[in-house]
Amino acid sequence: MSDCLFCKIIAGEIPSKKVYEDDQCYAFYDIDPQAPVHFLVIPKAHIGSCGAITEENSVVVGHIFQVISKLTHEMGITDFRVVSNCGEQAGQSVYHLHFHVLSGRDMTWPPG
Ligand code: AMP
Ligand code: ZN
Repeated sequence: MSDCLFCKIIAGEIPSKKVYEDDQCYAFYDIDPQAPVHFLVIPKAHIGSCGAITEENSVVVGHIFQVISKLTHEMGITDFRVVSNCGEQAGQSVYHLHFHVLSGRDMTWPPG
């Protein structure tokens, strides 16, 4: 999608601090970290949010969770939170599906 911030990051049109990349997904550090470790994992194909996941496009979601498991293992992280905000009220600000991976501090539940 031409006017999507994260599609532009995938295309290299906007710089990012890459954590990992393969043919299906891209991971990069959040520009405004909310924990000592805070990176995002996104599908390369544009999906607007969790609410736009379908039977046809959902394979990448399982792949992304596999990648999150691999990356956290490699980073030596055992305790972390995976978050995907869907919609304005839930705090979504970029409408390209992304999974926040947060770690390195105590976290509260329920989230604010
Ligand atoms: P959300 O608010 O759940 O939609 O998450 C969007 C996230 O993208 C926020 O945590 C932002 O800090 C992050 N973000 C926005 N622009 C950039 C960027 N250029 N590079 C890295 N992270 C970004
Ligand atoms: Zn996009």
